[in-house]
Amino acid sequence: MTKTSEWRAERNRKALARLEKALPAVFPAVVLRRALARPFIPPMPRLAVDGYWRAHPLRADALARALAARSGTPDGWTWRLASGDDDGLATTFRAPPAPYREKAFSRGPGHCCVCGQPVFRFGWHCDLWEAGPNPRARWHTACVVAWQLWTAPSDHIAILKKRQGRRCPQSGKRLARTAEVDHRQPLYRVWSEQRHLPWPSLLAFWGVPNLQVINRDAHVAKCAIEADERKRWRAVAVADI
Ligand SMILES: [Zn+2]
Repeated sequence: MTKTSEWRAERNRKALARLEKALPAVFPAVVLRRALARPFIPPMPRLAVDGYWRAHPLRADALARALAARSGTPDGWTWRLASGDDDGLATTFRAPPAPYREKAFSRGPGHCCVCGQPVFRFGWHCDLWEAGPNPRARWHTACVVAWQLWTAPSDHIAILKKRQGRRCPQSGKRLARTAEVDHRQPLYRVWSEQRHLPWPSLLAFWGVPNLQVINRDAHVAKCAIEADERKRWRAVAVADI
């Protein structure tokens, strides 16, 4: 055994002892299985849950959208952008609409500000412990990861490339190292043409169903066409006034 592997084995022995001590009788089996197979075992259940969702952002995205569908659009809510400084709304259509983050529609402590559903122990989405929602929690761990994917999809380019079999859907060629993440349906078009869709289905435009990795040259060409389209739209909007 090398010095590094000895050190790691010792560290893992200690981490496992801490994890086993802190682990409740009921714990999501998939999370535990992954934690125990890590090169570095997470020493706390909470870290095991974090690590699980971080490793599965596409699963987190699907779950967050399914939970949002369970909540539905709150009565009286529409997707709006900030008009003043303090209305708490997003300033750009690039941010995913999030009614339950808005003061007027928040479901309060123990509920996730992304999907609106109750948050249980360890930020989990179902009450395996029959202990009710955790009043201190405001996010599901899965929804934290989904939100990161929705707002910074480029950080997840490796997993998105793999999902596409490393092919560029625009050109059919192999994805180059310089390939970029793109919204198939651009977000400005979602805002201008589809903002009245029910909120849970809007989220799909930020999630995996609307994300693709394309080669840089194809992306530049697509962006140029989209920029032209926006320019034309603006001209039409001005002519209409
Ligand atoms: Zn959530």
